[in-house]
Amino acid sequence: MNAIAVERGEHQPSVIEVDRPSPDPGEALLRTLRVGIDGTDHEVIDGNHGGFPTEDDYQILGHEAVAVVEDANGTGLREGSLVVPTVRRPIDTPNNHFERGEPDMAPEGTYVERGIVGAHGYMAEYVTSQPEYLVSVPDSFARHGFLVEPISNSEKAIEHAIAARSAFEWEPESALILGNGPLGLLTLAMMTVKGFDTTYCLGRRDRPDPTIDIIERLDGIYIDSRETPVASIPETYEAVDFLYEATGYAKHAFESIAALESNGVAALLGLPDDWTFEIDGGQLHRELVLHNKAVFGSVNSNQSQYEQARETLTAFPDWFVDALITDVYAPDDVGAAFETGNERIKTVIEFDTP
Ligand code: NDP
Ligand code: ZN
Repeated sequence: MNAIAVERGEHQPSVIEVDRPSPDPGEALLRTLRVGIDGTDHEVIDGNHGGFPTEDDYQILGHEAVAVVEDANGTGLREGSLVVPTVRRPIDTPNNHFERGEPDMAPEGTYVERGIVGAHGYMAEYVTSQPEYLVSVPDSFARHGFLVEPISNSEKAIEHAIAARSAFEWEPESALILGNGPLGLLTLAMMTVKGFDTTYCLGRRDRPDPTIDIIERLDGIYIDSRETPVASIPETYEAVDFLYEATGYAKHAFESIAALESNGVAALLGLPDDWTFEIDGGQLHRELVLHNKAVFGSVNSNQSQYEQARETLTAFPDWFVDALITDVYAPDDVGAAFETGNERIKTVIEFDTP
């Protein structure tokens, strides 16, 4: 069967021929429909993040997938039904974090991530998985169900934000999303579904731009960071209750503190490279303390957050999903599929249709 992989020593993905996997006892065989591409895939290809499965000289890419149960193999799954696989798997069992349903909180070194670190991903015609790492989705999710994975990362972030503010009556009204990439736009749409009154989304692009069109169609306010840096947002717009960072721009972690309203909370999701710069640590420290502000980091997600993401995706308007998925490629077009550009938002590789 065909798979899209990066080979050891290479820094570009290619189509390789590998054996079709046969499910071990307790595993089901899945036929892959669509797999989304995101920034993490590019990091894996560039060799900046993740790592190859130890036993192979190639890494099959892809962690955002929707697939059909081809052979339930005694797992109790319904053949022909659609599923979205989760990303993390334990290295050794038992693993307390996985047993508790909190794989996203497992420390590094205790898990592999399919398509990212130490395990093959889902960009292959067929993949196998144990049923506990699969989330059922309706038949209507064949085209866009892979979005459950990135949305689940944001479900986790908002859940942790609410938990961080749970000791008092927190009624957030405004949300600021930093970043107009796919993760930022999905989270902006999610904030609307979750009932935030005012939403802002920060980018650094000129109009016309497809992401700005989406922001405005979602009734969000586009902020250009070249005109209004994050720390100036309270002056120009308003201080916000909830801030979600999805730029990977390291200064935003610190500027976010100034952009928060009293009692506000900021979730950091971006993955910056090393960058040394000066900050006024005293001011940031004081700002956090005197205004009861919180900042936290968040990565990955758990099964219940995938399930929540399924509900959120169901609530998205059709036009939004259509506008977000800008490019669909066959596996043979692998070169074109991994190109990037401002006209592209979410690219997906289609292995099969239901
Ligand atoms: P993208 O790189 O596609 O999007 C980042 C966006 O931020 C781009 O649109 C970019 O604009 C914009 N941006 C970057 N710097 C600035 C700036 N200084 N001012 C304004 N806008 C800026 O990534 P994704 O949307 O896929 O993901 C966002 C981040 O989250 C990435 O760092 C990714 O690695 C990380 N991530 C984290 C996860 C987690 O669980 N923690 C899960 C998935 C992703 P432009 O395109 O114009 O350059
Ligand atoms: Zn991802």
